[in-house]
Amino acid sequence: MNKPLASLSLDLDNAWSYLQIHGNEEWQSYPSYLDQLVPMFLDDMAARNLKVTVFVVGKDASLPQNRDLLRGIAESGHEIGNHSFNHLPWLDRFTAAGLRAELTEAHDAIGTATGSSTVGFRGPGFSFSAETLSVLASLGYTYDASTLPTFIGPLARAYYFRSGDLSEEERELRSKLFGSFTDIRRPNTAYRWATHDLMELPVTTIPLIRTPFHLSYLLWLAGISEKLADLYLSVALAACRATGTTPSVLIHPLDFFGGDDAPDLAFFPGMEHSGAEKRAISGHFLDRLTDAFDFTTCRAHVEASKPSRTVTL
Ligand SMILES: [Zn+2]
Repeated sequence: MNKPLASLSLDLDNAWSYLQIHGNEEWQSYPSYLDQLVPMFLDDMAARNLKVTVFVVGKDASLPQNRDLLRGIAESGHEIGNHSFNHLPWLDRFTAAGLRAELTEAHDAIGTATGSSTVGFRGPGFSFSAETLSVLASLGYTYDASTLPTFIGPLARAYYFRSGDLSEEERELRSKLFGSFTDIRRPNTAYRWATHDLMELPVTTIPLIRTPFHLSYLLWLAGISEKLADLYLSVALAACRATGTTPSVLIHPLDFFGGDDAPDLAFFPGMEHSGAEKRAISGHFLDRLTDAFDFTTCRAHVEASKPSRTVTL
């Protein structure tokens, strides 16, 4: 029997963007781990025979030393998406002109580096606004993938800031990081925006329960108990089957990197584990997901979904 089609995407967040969001000044020299991460990721996807979507940050695409690496992702058959230029997760605070510059600059840099014209966008930190949709539509994009329809985003934000060294102003800018409570009211699978010629592909949360099950979340649970994380994923898969939901699943670099791979990021949750430990457990979750679904790119998933439901902002 054919497995249902679903999508898998990697947000190619670099070391500097993690340092920046955490308020660590070292980000300004743009430290990078892409030369380690990208080949490892490509090998893993090839071993699983997967073609996925990689959302690339424009600043990384603009740096000559990353060109070959990023072009290699496209040449391996993966879809390239736009993940903004500066990876600032408060796009909702940008002026219209500032937002247009941010997304257009990323579009151009990513196109030049990878040789592919992007049609999909994911805002950093799930940041999202009506203006974003207007800019994407004018750039000829076909889908946005920035929403996480959960109530747990604000809780994740609280957890994330606990260890951060941020001023009041910096906290205020990050106030919508990981989404807002309104996200829970949005659908959990692909739909059309009524006001824009664009489709939305949410990062799927567990149907009915609406808690996340992207890989970072499963790893966080596994840090408490691997059995609990496995059971939780079983619930997610059963709820998807019961509701006919074909999920869009998100992965992050730190799902595959441990404290030994990126010592500068040791302060991040989960970085007390080695890279080998993380890759073993992430690989196990990916095996379970790929047993249940036939994963493809976000673009192919949106096109195959042919969503008829329209949503007004
Ligand atoms: Zn990101």
